[in-house]
Amino acid sequence: MIPYGKQSIDESDIQSIIDVLKSTNLTQGPKIEEFESALCELTEADYAICLNSGTSALHIACLAAGIGNGDEVITSPNSFVASANCAAYCGAKPIFADIDSKTYNIVPDEIDTKITSRTRAVIPVHFAGQSCDMASIKHVVSVAEAKYGHKIYIIEDACHALGSLYKNKKVGSCPFSDMTVMSFHPVKQITTGEGGVVLTNDQGLQKKLRQLRSHGITKDPSEFINRDLAFTTASSGSGNEVNPWYYEQISLGYNYRITDIQCALGLSQLQKITRFCKRRREIVNRYNDAFKDILNIQIPFEDKECDSNFHLYVLLFDFEKMSIERSRFMLALRQKDILTQVHYIPVYLQPYYRQHFGTNVGDCPNAEEYYKKCLSIPLYPAMTGADVEKVVVEVKKSWGFC
Ligand SMILES: *Cc1c(COP(=O)(O)O)cnc(C)c1O
Repeated sequence: MIPYGKQSIDESDIQSIIDVLKSTNLTQGPKIEEFESALCELTEADYAICLNSGTSALHIACLAAGIGNGDEVITSPNSFVASANCAAYCGAKPIFADIDSKTYNIVPDEIDTKITSRTRAVIPVHFAGQSCDMASIKHVVSVAEAKYGHKIYIIEDACHALGSLYKNKKVGSCPFSDMTVMSFHPVKQITTGEGGVVLTNDQGLQKKLRQLRSHGITKDPSEFINRDLAFTTASSGSGNEVNPWYYEQISLGYNYRITDIQCALGLSQLQKITRFCKRRREIVNRYNDAFKDILNIQIPFEDKECDSNFHLYVLLFDFEKMSIERSRFMLALRQKDILTQVHYIPVYLQPYYRQHFGTNVGDCPNAEEYYKKCLSIPLYPAMTGADVEKVVVEVKKSWGFC
């Protein structure tokens, strides 16, 4: 089977995990900080807080931004459900702003029309690895902040975009945002099994994020509130020393911690990211060449401000014009051991969203038009040349060409 995406694991990845299993710390050990430092180095962010999933990362990013009941959070309908769910977790209302028909990313002007006095955050999603127009989003948000007189956070959902560039800067370096979230699920650029990270340049946010990751507990003496419990009494000797057992819970956090086992895998994977991106690019070039002149197929548009890591390769098929049913097309390819997928069903069409937030068909026409046509064909670094050629031939055949 050739899936639409999958992890690439080699002997060094396997060995890295074995080494942790033979060490003292399976969790809360040194590999977590090592992985966080490596991510900071790669993305040029000041701080990295690793978590047990991209979804947890989105959740605590929203909490650190102070999102709560009655707030509104604007995001893209063309995403996995997690990028809107994180707002709902906090009691806020997800608001969907339509996508651009060329990039499939959220449109800054659409965000502008959806901003109200209740908007507390915007979560742009870098679809398929290509960055959103962050400079324009930042501008729209700054104007609204001045108008409404409060901070509006920008949280990038870059779960697809590790290794991508925007205006020659690393996605994750947060020049136009407060926080950037990534995922290390096996279909993403690198994997830790399950895992995620919040990147930020804001020291205050990173402190909150670290607390939220681990029960709201702090061991930093400068933050202690019960000072009589925290410190040794003068009569017992030296005085003013932190009691050796002591910690304080100062907010309501979670256990969203990642393990050392996972971080060791992440470190090993991270060493290969350049090679992974290069291989994806080679396959994309081959696909672009093969599909660019096929009737009623549209290849991905590349924004010249962006350098995408190509997390996904999405073709638009005009199924209606060709009188081909997408499900039959997918099943025909599956018969040839080629698995494809639809990214994404507009999130607001999900029953939960319709029931709880009153969303409906027609809310974002571009996202719906896109949804009718999109199909992701296989793309991952471990694809062989023969796999790629097989996909090219079989997709063309099923489409009625060659
Ligand atoms: C994968 C993904 C997530 C969630 O990440 P997990 O690590 O699976 O929790 C969120 N948003 C987008 C766009 C994703 O692709």
